Amino acid sequence: MSAKIRVVLVETSHPGNIGAVARAMKNMGLDGERASLYLVTPRRFPHEDATVRASGAIDLLDGAAVCETLDEALVGTTLVFGASARTRSLPWPIHPPRECAAKIALEPDGSEVALVFGRERSGLTNEELERCNTLLHIPTNPEFSSLNLGAAVQVVAYELLMARGEVHKEAGNVERDSPLASADDIERLFGHFEKTLKDIDFLDPENPRHMMRRLRRLFNRVELEQVEINILRGILTAVDKKVK
Ligand code: SAH
Repeated sequence: MSAKIRVVLVETSHPGNIGAVARAMKNMGLDGERASLYLVTPRRFPHEDATVRASGAIDLLDGAAVCETLDEALVGTTLVFGASARTRSLPWPIHPPRECAAKIALEPDGSEVALVFGRERSGLTNEELERCNTLLHIPTNPEFSSLNLGAAVQVVAYELLMARGEVHKEAGNVERDSPLASADDIERLFGHFEKTLKDIDFLDPENPRHMMRRLRRLFNRVELEQVEINILRGILTAVDKKVK
């Protein structure tokens, strides 16, 4: 575990959005010891709409700290990131969420990092943005750059999850039947192929390279396992017997 994340929402108008933020956080593992929610003068909170939109993330709402000022919400934090939908007229350079998440992942255990999100209508004021070390902007369609508050937190929280490096590839994580074949096993397979294909007159002995290169490319792409090599060698041996 690295730094603790403080998601700070400034003057949120719609309690439903607060609920959506809690849900987005919990979905991405930003709950419990890892993160908490700070609300700076929310228009209405607690509120039924927040509870409904939070789905099961009630613990984050129950544990939310309600503050009078942004300064109060930032007490004790080391790095402060300000999320802004606007890229022009910002006081300093802006960074995409992935870069910010990588930076946060390097923070030492026990430190606290704030991610500040603005009002639905007007975002964060320049004064508030100047309280931040780093400005975060989620790349968007430049003509339509303002995400819903919950969606903005979702994207950032997802990048934090990925940056923690605890997620193992699910799709494409093939269970292997047997260990990968060794380089020398694969060389023997290619040698066997070449010989058998010549014996059955499939390979032009004048120019075997072309075909063999293509076969190598094909088999190298699939990361052959030992069991698969055995099957292929078995097939070739069966062919060898027939042509003898
Ligand atoms: N109309 C406001 C946008 C408010 S959206 C404006 O022009 O600033 C509410 C909050 O969601 C923003 O203050 C910001 O913190 C966050 N947000 C929305 N879209 C974002 C984006 N593309 N990048 C970073 N933060 C974004």
